Amino acid sequence: MSRAPGNRPLAAPEPGAPGPGAGRGRTRLGVFGGTFDPPHFGHLALAEWARTELALDRVLFVPAGEPPHKRRGPLSAATHRVAMTRLAVRGNPAFAVSTLEARRRGPSYTAETVRRLAAAGPRATLPLLLGAGMFATFDQWHEPGEIARRAVLVVALRPGSRARRASRWARRGRGVVWLENPGLEVSSSALRARAARGMGMRYLVPDAVARYAARHRLYGPKPGRRRA
Ligand code: ATP
Repeated sequence: MSRAPGNRPLAAPEPGAPGPGAGRGRTRLGVFGGTFDPPHFGHLALAEWARTELALDRVLFVPAGEPPHKRRGPLSAATHRVAMTRLAVRGNPAFAVSTLEARRRGPSYTAETVRRLAAAGPRATLPLLLGAGMFATFDQWHEPGEIARRAVLVVALRPGSRARRASRWARRGRGVVWLENPGLEVSSSALRARAARGMGMRYLVPDAVARYAARHRLYGPKPGRRRA
């Protein structure tokens, strides 16, 4: 696949500068955190787009144990979200799942995750993949400066999106790589809402994820509620 016009590969650092993935052999690793409740084709499409556009060797999906930025409603158990994410990435040898956050107690702070991952290669800066919606709140995250020191923020944007200007962080000119991508309008919350009305997730999540969610009754209609 050829590269989208607005995107530059992360693979070629400035001469003398440690590029993303430096210090960890030849493997260029991208990190993709999320709640993944459930993982859907929007996540997979973004990860694969980033992998090819930025010439990454691997994308590590990191399901949060307790996501600090969200969320009011009930959350599926981390074991289920990890299992579904593993099923979702199955078949793509460049994708892997980390249980680093799912195993950790307390809120899953991205700062701690990038600290841990960067410890494997101290001079490295990790590409951290984010949707534009998630990035919009970045300055309110725990230790955003620490994250930005150790990671390159890679923010997925629709072509022509205005999100670049919407973020205070981006206005301050901090290092952000904007990743133009076609995007798929699917979200986990919309899928959960559909499932709660008795509707399926087919063609919006991998079949194995839909089967897992059904088997474990993760998102079905609440007792007493009629199918829409
Ligand atoms: P929810 O609807 O419950 O908020 P979500 O669909 O946004 O969930 P998350 O697991 O919270 O999924 O998202 C993980 C990351 O993936 C975030 O950076 C988010 O912005 C990004 N993301 C989510 N959906 C999409 C999508 N359709 N296309 C591109 N990026 C997405």
